[in-house]
Amino acid sequence: MRQRNPTPTPRHAQVSAAIAEVRAVYADLETRPVERDCQRRTGCCHFKLTGEVPSLTHAEALLMLKAWRASGRKNIPEPADGACPMFDAKTAACRIYEARPFGCRTHFCAAAGGPYARREVLDLIRRLEVTSERLGVRDPRPLGAALDRASDGHL
Ligand code: SF4
Repeated sequence: MRQRNPTPTPRHAQVSAAIAEVRAVYADLETRPVERDCQRRTGCCHFKLTGEVPSLTHAEALLMLKAWRASGRKNIPEPADGACPMFDAKTAACRIYEARPFGCRTHFCAAAGGPYARREVLDLIRRLEVTSERLGVRDPRPLGAALDRASDGHL
């Protein structure tokens, strides 16, 4: 029989710390004096239409995956119509909005106020990169590939 709550390993502790740091970075982003107002129009979730896919760090993908699983879901679905796999076409909403990655918070949407200038958030980007480097992963990946990598046994 499978143990439901295995004893945390050092790797679990590392992953938990990384996820906590990603949340802290997102919270710090909210305090930046750059005005943005996401209206949840979800235009940016349709990658095929926008021609843009957010890149994210490994630690961010781990947070997304944690949020996904916390909602009781298991496998991540195949994206429909070129949309983000986290986008729910039935409700027209992001399924993990509170855990959406930095790119979704800063880059794509003109309706929310336009993209951040990189210099405005460079320190936060660096913190996300360092957090993943501590887990032994350096390269950001496009959203789908980052989720695939995170799914490969890191939680
Ligand atoms: S993670 Fe959520 S907000 Fe970001 S593109 Fe996917 S569905 Fe949209």
